[in-house]
Amino acid sequence: MPPDDLMEAVVNLCKRRGFIFPSAEIYGGFRSTYDYGPLGVLLLRNVKDAWWRSMVQLREDVVGLDAAILSSPKVWEASGHLANFTDPLVDCRSCHERWRADQIDGKCPACGSTDLTDARAFNLMFKTFAGPVEDAGSVAYLRPETAQGMFVNFANVLQTTRKKPPFGIAQVGKSFRNEITPGNFVFRTREFEQMEMEYFVPPDEGNYWFTYWCEQRMAWYIDLGIAPEKLRLRHHDPDELSHYSASTADVEFLFPWGWGELEGIAYRTDYDLKAHSEASGERLEYFDPSTGERYIPHVIEPAAGATRSMMAFLIAAYDRDVVAGEERTVLHLDKRLAPYRVAVLPLSKKEPLLELSHKVLKVLQQHFMCDLDVTQSIGRRYRRQDEIGTPYCVTIDFDSLEDSCVTVRDRDTTDQARVPIDALLADLQDRFAS
Ligand code: ATP
Repeated sequence: MPPDDLMEAVVNLCKRRGFIFPSAEIYGGFRSTYDYGPLGVLLLRNVKDAWWRSMVQLREDVVGLDAAILSSPKVWEASGHLANFTDPLVDCRSCHERWRADQIDGKCPACGSTDLTDARAFNLMFKTFAGPVEDAGSVAYLRPETAQGMFVNFANVLQTTRKKPPFGIAQVGKSFRNEITPGNFVFRTREFEQMEMEYFVPPDEGNYWFTYWCEQRMAWYIDLGIAPEKLRLRHHDPDELSHYSASTADVEFLFPWGWGELEGIAYRTDYDLKAHSEASGERLEYFDPSTGERYIPHVIEPAAGATRSMMAFLIAAYDRDVVAGEERTVLHLDKRLAPYRVAVLPLSKKEPLLELSHKVLKVLQQHFMCDLDVTQSIGRRYRRQDEIGTPYCVTIDFDSLEDSCVTVRDRDTTDQARVPIDALLADLQDRFAS
């Protein structure tokens, strides 16, 4: 499918089927903000759960955190965000649109004029006031990344968990950036979700763990169904690196408009802990009782976008094929990501089929996120489930009342198998395990 068509088809599907809605749509929308609908909230949650499972649950060396979105301005002063978290902003003198200077070629994308102002630094942090008084003393910022929560809690986590480097602190949550030019659907928005982990290591192990995390993170996207040829790891050139970073690599996905970053993996040395240590006066270091050595750990940070990755998974899964001479849209989402894992479809919405369907649903709901769809022809209902990526449909027909069996249909192959209701849960569990 041509790239523009693919993008349009995915955006349409998101709106039509309830994945993503423009925010405040009844008021005409609001500046590139989006709401995640009944299916979007499930898909996004599954992306975040898959990340958490791989980064926290299945590891012995990583613990979780959920830090405040509003926090002391001192955090942002010490981290360098107040001074440096800026994009270069230019104004078009002709049509007065504003642009990020590094995203345009000296020419206003709206009107074509080359009469632009000089670039000035525009800070991307959202500013607000904490408390009832709006003065300089009550200024607060919405976090533009989740990472600082891990640095400022380093000592708390070390003390309470008794971890020793190498170990990590992981967090999933909202971040806010006053992006000059948001766009490409949810690729760049002002409110978004991140999945970040700070991995603290002995200083001489930094390069080893940087390579390790680059490999791990690439493998995560591939394991969840993105074709390797649609992914690449792009190492930053030395002149692209932030001043504190020894190495950085981006995991990039081939979006319909070209390669775009899904995740940045940065070897941040001891920059952050040192900065917070100096600004707060607290010792943010590790004392190794076995060697008597005291050191500030180095940090490797895999920082991914949850909302941006969700969009990549949708684009990668989108397909149109022909089944029994009929064209269908199908999302080949990994089974772990699919919003609904199982749909229960009674052939007729009349009793006693509906009653039996509810009984089956009640059992399956304990284990899987399920949909129950009773309207329109069974063929139409299969198409509807294919279009939202439901891996299995369970059809309950009139024979089911006699033989206590149901039909299980596979989204990808469209193969159907007759399964006894008593064995249905185990059958589905086997299918999800394989
Ligand atoms: P970009 O260069 O695209 O602005 P970045 O390099 O500033 O991104 P990071 O600070 O490394 O991004 O953030 C880590 C991840 O958070 C990004 O790889 C991306 O997936 C996600 N992210 C960052 N900004 C946004 C945004 N405005 N909207 C959606 N996701 C974002």
